[in-house]
Amino acid sequence: STRETLLEVNNIEVIYNHVILVLKGVSLNVPKGGITALLGGNGAGKTTTLKAISNLLQSERGEVTKGTIRYRGEVVQASDPADLVRKGVIQVMEGRHCFEHLTVEENLLTGYYTRNTGKAEMMRDLDKVYTYFPRLKERRRSQAGYTSGGEQQMVAIGRALMSRPETILLDEPSMGLAPQLVEQIFEIVKDLNEKEGLTFLLAEQNTNVALRYAHYGYILESGRVVMDGPAAELRENPDVKEFYLGVS
Ligand code: ATP
Repeated sequence: STRETLLEVNNIEVIYNHVILVLKGVSLNVPKGGITALLGGNGAGKTTTLKAISNLLQSERGEVTKGTIRYRGEVVQASDPADLVRKGVIQVMEGRHCFEHLTVEENLLTGYYTRNTGKAEMMRDLDKVYTYFPRLKERRRSQAGYTSGGEQQMVAIGRALMSRPETILLDEPSMGLAPQLVEQIFEIVKDLNEKEGLTFLLAEQNTNVALRYAHYGYILESGRVVMDGPAAELRENPDVKEFYLGVS
């Protein structure tokens, strides 16, 4: 099937501090309604790619020096991150970044900031988040800083959902979580993809789990895409098996 491309990254180069070339011409396509995985080891450039897309490199002294990034055909490079959220793209940062002193529910409500509709609608959206994350409903009055790593990851995704995104850029959702929780988070991603039609681009070091849930994968090494293909094909590829799945 030929699915509409939502996000198109074309041959981007990213330089930090004016001298450190980190992305050396990365291209990728994210189709509407798909789960696309960005794979690779520590330092391969996954986070940099996501931050380039959502224009969050500035505070890291990084910039896109070549190439183009388009969303729905429109060049979005160098646009305000808040503008991109209005267009439907939101990033869930690595490490979760909850407001530790706010409750779980207050954290979720901060995700609503981009829209100014009524309170009733906000509560409906909150309820929807709770249907996907029943655990967060149980914990809604707890201070976020005292919840577990898995719960904080749920808060981070739930907060992103409150902006009613079309596309979620999810950075390393498995980080620091026990295998069972990783599975739980990915099951929810799958549910959101299937039931809400949400599009995902997710960066993961955990190739094994990512390739079981994603439809398509790109493998990054030292700032270059070295391989890409349907997840089912990558799972069977001998090099992927040997270097990324730990079997041969
Ligand atoms: P990780 O899983 O550790 O996040 P990654 O694949 O996401 O890895 P990046 O975080 O994008 O990789 O980092 C890619 C390269 O860019 C690394 O060599 C890293 O040291 C370098 N880098 C990242 N941020 C900066 C920065 N602010 N200034 C200079 N170099 C940076």
